[in-house]
Amino acid sequence: MSRTGSARSVVCVGAGPAGLLAATQIKLARPGWHVVVHERAPKDVTYGYGVVFSDAAVRTIEYLAPELGELLATQTRWDDVEIRAHGRRYRVPGHGYAALSRHRLLDALAGRAAAVGVDMRYETPTTLGELRDEYDLVIAADGAHSQIRRELAAELGATVHWGRSRFAWLGTTAGFDAMTFIFERVRDTVVVAHGYPHDDGLSTFVVEVPGPAPAPTEAGADPEPVLAEWSEVFADHLGGHRLRTNDLRWERFPVVRLRDCVYRNVVVIGDAAHTVHYSVGSGTRMALEDGFHLARSVAHHDEPASALAEYQRRRLPGVAELQSTGERSMRWFEHVPDHLRKGPAPFAVHLLTRTNGVPLSRLAEAGRLTDDATEALTGRPMPRGDVLAVPLTVGSVRLPGRLAMRTPTDAPGVVPVAVLDLADVASAADPVGSPVLAVDLGPCAADPDVERTNTLVTMDALRAADLPEGSVLAIRSVLPAAVDRPPPALLARLRALCAVDRCDLVDLAAGDDRSGVALAVALETADLVRRPLNRPVMVSGFRAAPDVVRTHLLAGRIDLWCAEPGAWP
Ligand SMILES: Cc1cc2nc3c(=O)[nH]c(=O)nc-3n(C[C@H](O)[C@H](O)[C@H](O)COP(=O)(O)OP(=O)(O)OC[C@H]3O[C@@H](n4cnc5c(N)ncnc54)[C@H](O)[C@@H]3O)c2cc1C
Repeated sequence: MSRTGSARSVVCVGAGPAGLLAATQIKLARPGWHVVVHERAPKDVTYGYGVVFSDAAVRTIEYLAPELGELLATQTRWDDVEIRAHGRRYRVPGHGYAALSRHRLLDALAGRAAAVGVDMRYETPTTLGELRDEYDLVIAADGAHSQIRRELAAELGATVHWGRSRFAWLGTTAGFDAMTFIFERVRDTVVVAHGYPHDDGLSTFVVEVPGPAPAPTEAGADPEPVLAEWSEVFADHLGGHRLRTNDLRWERFPVVRLRDCVYRNVVVIGDAAHTVHYSVGSGTRMALEDGFHLARSVAHHDEPASALAEYQRRRLPGVAELQSTGERSMRWFEHVPDHLRKGPAPFAVHLLTRTNGVPLSRLAEAGRLTDDATEALTGRPMPRGDVLAVPLTVGSVRLPGRLAMRTPTDAPGVVPVAVLDLADVASAADPVGSPVLAVDLGPCAADPDVERTNTLVTMDALRAADLPEGSVLAIRSVLPAAVDRPPPALLARLRALCAVDRCDLVDLAAGDDRSGVALAVALETADLVRRPLNRPVMVSGFRAAPDVVRTHLLAGRIDLWCAEPGAWP
C-alpha cells in the first residue's frame, strides 16, 4: 500500500453506507488527503427502518468494517423464516439472519468517519457541476435515485427499469421473531408484508402491493390515515400494534445497472451503481463492499485515474450475479397472486426456493410443510413418501414417476424419453417403446421473422403428425446461453405451439449453458407457462441434486425432471 504522492482532494456525495465507508477507508489509507462527505439530509435523519443480513453477509461486513464489530455484536439474530398465507403458518428453521436498525448503522459509520478526520457536511445537497472541477476524485454514493448517475447516463451506459409492485418501508413496535412473509387478500388483490425484528425494539415492516395495482395512497399525503388503514389490513399479525413511518413513500423498485461505473474523475458506487431487490437483503453489504474496494484501489495507486480504472475492472463484474438473483426475487413477488393459486404448502416451498435450489432435507426440518406439499401433489397423505415416485398423468397416459431419462434407459420407475427431430415426427412409430416423444425444436431463432416462420412450419407438421396411440408429445425448446430471465421469444413460441392441440408436455432443455443461472431461467420459464398454458412442464439436461429436484416438484414449479444418462446419482 503506497502512502506517498501529492495530497489530493476527494468528495463523496451521500452519507449512506457506501459513501461513509469509502470516505473513512480512503482517509485512513491517505491521511494527507482532504476527504469531504456531502449529505443533503440532516444528521440523524434516516429513511427506512432495519436492514437484514444473512450470516455470511455479517461475516463479510465484520471483515470490511471491523469498526462495526461492537454494533454487529448487538444485532438481533434469528434462524427461522415464517410464511403466513391462506390462513396457515409454516416456519422453516436453519436460515441464519441478523438485523440492525439503519439509523444505528449509519450513526456508527458516520461517527467513525468523523473520528478519522473526514470532513462531514450535513444538510448540503450538492451537484456534479459544483464538484467535478474542484476535486480530484468525485464519489457518487447518492443512492438508487442518483442525480449524478442520471447526468452521466450516456457516458456510463446506465439503465434503470422499474419493478411493477409498489412498496413502503414501514416500521412497527410489534415483535417478530423470524423473517416473516405475510400475504393478505385486500379487495381484489393480494398484499405482502416482509416483517423482521431489529435491535432497537422495532420491527421492519415493508408493505408491498404486487402487480400493476393502483397506488394505495398519494405520496406526500398525511401518513396517519394510511398507516391506520394498513395497520387494519395486517391487524392479525400486528397484535394491536400500529405501523409507523419516518418518511411515507410508495415507490416502485428501481433496478439500476451500469456498463461502466467510472467517467473521468467520477466513480459511482453503492445503490447509485447497482441495486439489489430488498427481498434478498444484500444492498447494504454490496454498498459497503464498494466503499471498501474503492478505498483499496485508492490506497494502491497514487493517481486517482489509475485507482478508478482498477476499481472498475475488479468490482463491476462481481455484482452481476447477485443483481440477477435480486431481480428474480422481485419478479417472484410481482407474481404472488398466481403463485398463491398453488395452495398453502406448495406456495410456501415455492417462496423458499424462488432464487435457489434448496434440498428437501432442509425443508424437512419444517415439520408438516413437506408432508402437506406432498399431499397437495398426490391428493392423499403420503408421509415420508418419495415425490419422485409419484405417478404423473398426462392426458390418458400414466407415467410411473417424476424422473425421466433419454432413451435408452431401463432404470426402474424412470420415464424413458425419445428425442426426435421435427422431420421424424410425422413418421414416429414409437421406436423404443418410449411413452414420451420429445420433438426437439432447438433454440429460438435470433430473427423474430424467422422464428415466426419456423413456428408456423412446426405447427403444420405437428397438426399432420400421426403419433402412436398412448404416447405423450413433448415440445422441446433449448434455452439460449447467457440470458438471465425468461426470453420473450421462447414464451411466444410456447404460447403459439400450445395453441395447437398437439403439445402434451412443455420440455425446456439445457443448451451449451448449464450454469446455475441458466437453470434458474429454465425454472422461471416453467413457472410462467405451466398454469397459463395448462400443460405439465419438464426441465431437461441440467444437473441438480435429487433432493433439490424434489423441492422443485413439491413447489409445483415443474412436473418432470429429465436427467442425462450418467448425470443422476
Ligand atoms: C424497503 C427496503 C428495504 C431494504 N432492506 C435491506 C436489507 O434488509 N438489507 C440490506 O442489505 N439492504 C436493504 N436495502 C437496501 C439498502 O438500503 C441499500 O442498498 C443501501 O442503503 C445502499 O447504500 P448507499 O450508500 O449506496 O445509498 P443510500 O443508503 O441510499 O444513501 C444515499 C445517500 O445520498 C444522499 N444524497 C442523495 N442525493 C444527494 C445529493 N444530491 N447531495 C447530497 N446527498 C445526497 C441521500 O440523502 C442518502 O443519505 C433495502 C432497501 C429498501 C428500499
